[in-house]
Amino acid sequence: MTTSPYVEYWMECLGNSLEEHGIGFTPEQLRGVAEDIQTAYLCREQAFYTPDHPAIQELKTVQRQLKAEQDKRVCKECKGTGSITESWLDRSSTTTCGACHGEGKR
Ligand SMILES: [Zn+2]
Repeated sequence: MTTSPYVEYWMECLGNSLEEHGIGFTPEQLRGVAEDIQTAYLCREQAFYTPDHPAIQELKTVQRQLKAEQDKRVCKECKGTGSITESWLDRSSTTTCGACHGEGKR
């Protein structure tokens, strides 16, 4: 059976620590404990909540905003102009489209 480099690393660290503190152990015990430490190491993200790096959070926010923007369609009320012009006689009045609030998309 080959030992993973990670378990070998833990065996070396743990072996040195146990010797330094005067704690006796067999090679089998050392390997067993080192394997347990590696298992605990692999499970640490389940034990502790680790939020994304702020830059990753910012990227996810921008990606959501981009998707929301790409999903928008041309406003049918103003045909994408963002404003509504009403004419009567020789006068006309232009107002911001109420449906898309002047964006031309929604
Ligand atoms: Zn509109």
